[in-house]
Amino acid sequence: MNQPRAHDGPGPELASTPSSSRAQTDMPANDRPIEAPRPTPDAAPFWEAANEGRLLIKHCAECDRMHYPPRPFCPHCFSASARWHECTGKGTLYAYSVVRRTEIPYAMAYVRLAEGPIMMTNIVDTPFGALRADMDVQVVFKASVNGQLIPMFKAASPIPQPGDTA
Ligand SMILES: [Zn+2]
Repeated sequence: MNQPRAHDGPGPELASTPSSSRAQTDMPANDRPIEAPRPTPDAAPFWEAANEGRLLIKHCAECDRMHYPPRPFCPHCFSASARWHECTGKGTLYAYSVVRRTEIPYAMAYVRLAEGPIMMTNIVDTPFGALRADMDVQVVFKASVNGQLIPMFKAASPIPQPGDTA
């Protein structure tokens, strides 16, 4: 999971961020340190594409189904003919949970991609109180502590904020 934790590399220090005011807010913080992924060789193209702002999953030419996470063999028919496919980045919120037991709360979630597969991810840039099952979400790429961009999701439509005059 993407829980913040102490790390050795360059990046924000968890302990240096005062949290007293932030604990009251409904808005996820943008400065939560995101743990760097540890890519497997099979997933290397996925992470390279993420750094270019593209979301890739695998499409099986044999059974015409998509799958995620990427595997060398299709989990539906065990064919080795799965190829990378660029997603639209659109999806719906399948399930979510706001994790508040960390210093900086965040929303972990399962998003059902428009292409079918369900991706475990985080919801960002969206007030926790606005989260609803089945709401439309879209991909957004956030930097982890080592600079690798990670696909996460936010509300597809702007959420009105208290105090907005528009
Ligand atoms: Zn297949």
